[in-house]
Amino acid sequence: MSAQIITVIKGDGIGPSIVDAATAILDKVGCNFQYEYVDAGLTALEKTGELLPQATLDAIARNKITLKGPLTTPVGEGFTSINVTLRKKFNLYSNVRPVISFKGTKARYDNIDIITVRENTEGMYSGAGQVVKNDGELAEAMSIVTREGSARIVEFAFELARREQRKKVTIVHKANILKSTSGLFLKTAREVAARYPDIQTVEMIVDNACMQLVMNPQQFDVIVTTNLFGDILSDLCAGLVGGLGMAPGANIGKDCAIFEAVHGSAPDIAGKNLANPSSVILASIQMLEYLGMKDKAQQILAAVTDVIATGDRTTRDLGGTHGTTDFTQAVLERL
Ligand code: ATP
Ligand code: MG
Repeated sequence: MSAQIITVIKGDGIGPSIVDAATAILDKVGCNFQYEYVDAGLTALEKTGELLPQATLDAIARNKITLKGPLTTPVGEGFTSINVTLRKKFNLYSNVRPVISFKGTKARYDNIDIITVRENTEGMYSGAGQVVKNDGELAEAMSIVTREGSARIVEFAFELARREQRKKVTIVHKANILKSTSGLFLKTAREVAARYPDIQTVEMIVDNACMQLVMNPQQFDVIVTTNLFGDILSDLCAGLVGGLGMAPGANIGKDCAIFEAVHGSAPDIAGKNLANPSSVILASIQMLEYLGMKDKAQQILAAVTDVIATGDRTTRDLGGTHGTTDFTQAVLERL
């Protein structure tokens, strides 16, 4: 069998340093991937004059699997978010954001193991109906929710729960106020949930979900929700386990997937060897699981877990004093 080709976008800011860490680790466990490196974001803009060159889009479509560092979208000047564009272009309708507790972090809780499944293409992020009226005195945007879009994301969440032997799916909504949009999502979600009697279903209003996540996060297992709520809740979840440096995300569509760090390009620490590479390393673990390479995923997770628990070569955000390269070296040595 020929080697699996992975499209790799190193990205902006801290991106290249943390993506290099992840690929070095994938190589070390013998994944035998072939990487096709392409550019996007500011790096691409500087080289080619485009934020998302056609060659990059072609590589993502051709290889189906992409590992991606954070991308900077220039503020204002009519640029739409590159991440949002990619999700829409490739119809990556599920955004899967797992958080787990690692011993040795400065997190407030132990024993957290939550997967947020966020709808990735509709809701408030549809980009539809954007108008600014009356000389900037009034702004409008449209939230779009469809039955089909809601059904497929909720099905995705329940299938994931079943596959990973999870017990509970919490449907997060705001149907009491956003009666049309969140209402349709909730109604559809209930219909889908009824087909999964083996999995417990809980409904929760988003504001209560925020409080419950902070007060008693261990009650959550899988969360499924619409785009904006999922964006916010998944960052909240990252905060529960030690911050954005520990938060990976997968964008999954029918035949294409992009694995990435949840955080941005962190310009404040870029180029200083301070970034925690765990986010992209954990994203590469999601990628291995997606590819059915469960053993290698487990191996890498065990090594990262041990480095963080030992704490002798961790990065600043984890309470350590070491750099990206030391952390990575510590993981490599354990493999
Ligand atoms: P962008 O505009 O690209 O989103 P940002 O300024 O919003 O960048 P984020 O990358 O979202 O920055 O990060 C927010 C904060 O978290 C920053 O202080 C950053 O240094 C920190 N941070 C993000 N990722 C990491 C990481 N992998 N390791 C350590 N700290 C991180
Ligand atoms: Mg940011």
